[in-house]
Amino acid sequence: MARILFVEDEEDLLTSLVAFFTREGFEVFHARGGDAAIQTAGRMKPDIAVLDMMLHEGPEGPNGKDGFEVLRALRDRGFDGPVIFLTARTLEHDKLLAFDLGADDYITKPVSLLELRARVRAALKRAGGGKSVYRYGGVEVDLDNYVIRHGDQEADLERLSNREQELLKYLIEHRGKVLQRDELLTSIWKYSAGVTTRTVDTHILNVRKKLRDDATTPKFIETLHGIGYKFIAAEH
Ligand code: CA
Repeated sequence: MARILFVEDEEDLLTSLVAFFTREGFEVFHARGGDAAIQTAGRMKPDIAVLDMMLHEGPEGPNGKDGFEVLRALRDRGFDGPVIFLTARTLEHDKLLAFDLGADDYITKPVSLLELRARVRAALKRAGGGKSVYRYGGVEVDLDNYVIRHGDQEADLERLSNREQELLKYLIEHRGKVLQRDELLTSIWKYSAGVTTRTVDTHILNVRKKLRDDATTPKFIETLHGIGYKFIAAEH
């Protein structure tokens, strides 16, 4: 489930965005002003942000940050997910500035929820689909090549099986979310014959070993007893 942040000062529009995207199965966060948006993004680690360009009707008032400043602040703080601008403005200059600042897409008001949903999905797909190498301090997860590198030597290399690669990819792409065993079973094993939640546990154990992670003080995969697992590492 993707985590999406909406930043929009018009309360009615924000309410309908939140309601629609929640119904569509997104995990939705929202803010009506720039500073609140930056704080929320820092706490909630969204996968994608939809930013209104003009935010002056919100609680932070006319001197608050606008969408451009929010985008710049998010990028400065390491947010690298896709950003879609939402705006009434249609000036060429603003579009170019938005793309210069690293926005991925641009949609003008009045917003069609269906169009926005399509663009959000496309942006998430581009962002997720293109990525296959993740770095966590000295640990590099290379999903294309089915390896985890802990250093430059042959002994630092851990090889992943097909299933382990799929499982790790799924965990990484759902970082921060509790994944129940049943969900993993359905998503990765598609209810293959003879597969039980025990299979999930065994594979988690193997992946954890290859990440050289420790179940009692995990840096990568946290166990929630009786519930499932959560990927907790952030790239750096
Ligand atoms: Ca506005």
